Amino acid sequence: MSISPAHPASAPALVADGAQAPARAAAPAASGPAPRHMTRRVLIRHGSREVAVGGGAPVMVQSMTNTDTADAIATAIQVKELARAGSEVVRITVNTPEAAAAVPAIREQLDRMGIDVPLVGDFHYNGHTLLNEYPDCARALSKYRINPGNVGKGAKRDTQFGQMIEVACRYDKPVRIGVNWGSLDQALLARIMDENSARAEPWSAQAVMYEALVTSAIENARRAEELGLPAERIILSCKVSGVQDLIAVYRELARRCDYALHLGLTEAGMGSKGIVASTAAMGVLLQEGIGDTIRVSLTPEPGGDRTREVIVAQEILQTMGLRKFTPMVIACPGCGRTTSTVFQELADRIQTYLREQMPAWKTAYPGAEEMNVAVMGCIVNGPGESKHANIGISLPGTGESPAAPVFVDGQKTVTLRGPNIAEEFQDIVSNYVKTRYGRDRVN
Ligand code: SF4
Repeated sequence: MSISPAHPASAPALVADGAQAPARAAAPAASGPAPRHMTRRVLIRHGSREVAVGGGAPVMVQSMTNTDTADAIATAIQVKELARAGSEVVRITVNTPEAAAAVPAIREQLDRMGIDVPLVGDFHYNGHTLLNEYPDCARALSKYRINPGNVGKGAKRDTQFGQMIEVACRYDKPVRIGVNWGSLDQALLARIMDENSARAEPWSAQAVMYEALVTSAIENARRAEELGLPAERIILSCKVSGVQDLIAVYRELARRCDYALHLGLTEAGMGSKGIVASTAAMGVLLQEGIGDTIRVSLTPEPGGDRTREVIVAQEILQTMGLRKFTPMVIACPGCGRTTSTVFQELADRIQTYLREQMPAWKTAYPGAEEMNVAVMGCIVNGPGESKHANIGISLPGTGESPAAPVFVDGQKTVTLRGPNIAEEFQDIVSNYVKTRYGRDRVN
């Protein structure tokens, strides 16, 4: 080993005998999503509430109920829960005359509860009839979802699609043309397959499927425009259940049009499978700047909470640095150095507390959603990670002294001891939010 001569302008480098000193390393490039794929801005309105999708607006989070829409009370309650969890638009299925008749009552009930979230009607097979026969339903909804594979067969298809677009034009509503590979327009698929077999080198079945999905979405959007619906009132989606398929289809969709895009896997699955698949697919596309609104289609576990899909959607956007919704809790995974469950319970308690407070904090303490709170299991990484957070606590690991130092803005402020550490730490977090983000704060 030799040490290169020190020079004021170049840091001394350790160089192995005979080896060349490496060129000075460039600073790692900053990472971040690609510039957004520019799309047209669509406004979804209810009363004075206006939710923007596309055109550079923040990526919007939406969800869908799983109640029977004909049960207006149950549906209004679930819409309220989804909206309170952060869903900026909520979709309800409108599948029967009873469901269509219930939609105005759901809207009224929500308005009475002060929930102004726009409602989207999901139509299949009979949307043209329901929208025409239940004008109060057509008016109460803020947007219609049309699946071009399910609007009718043969000659009826164009007529019935046209009837739905006419209603959207009459009431000034945006539509989502939502293609789904499970209900792809069979006539269009047959046409694309015929075109493919005429090629000198036919495409793979997978490429034909992608082409059929993208063509269905874009051709139907153009048809809607011909019928008088402006492009600024059209959102497109092409849902599939495979991660790589979704990525391929949306890249192509983004390459070929500038309509606002709704991202989501269809039938993402249950529990961790659904979360991982949705995150993997949407993460790649969002990083490439593709996607204006997302829905995470999780299959709820029996008795599970429907709001989970909203929380997962928010967490995808927040962890990617695209939006901020709720203060982040940074917690270590735990290991053999901490054998009690105290820190897991505290992390869970603080996360739940922060999420519950956010609807009120959003107006009272703007900016609180940017806060980071660290809950760490022992002294190894606890103090370091806690110092980097707005507030952090380092709980005692096995064999460590039963004391939990708390750090606020990088400074150790207090050491908590005894059985009430959780309550005391929660109070510290609450007071921090009031002082740091309150309207009379001193900057
Ligand atoms: S902070 Fe401590 S308890 Fe947590 S993972 Fe690291 S070593 Fe384990």
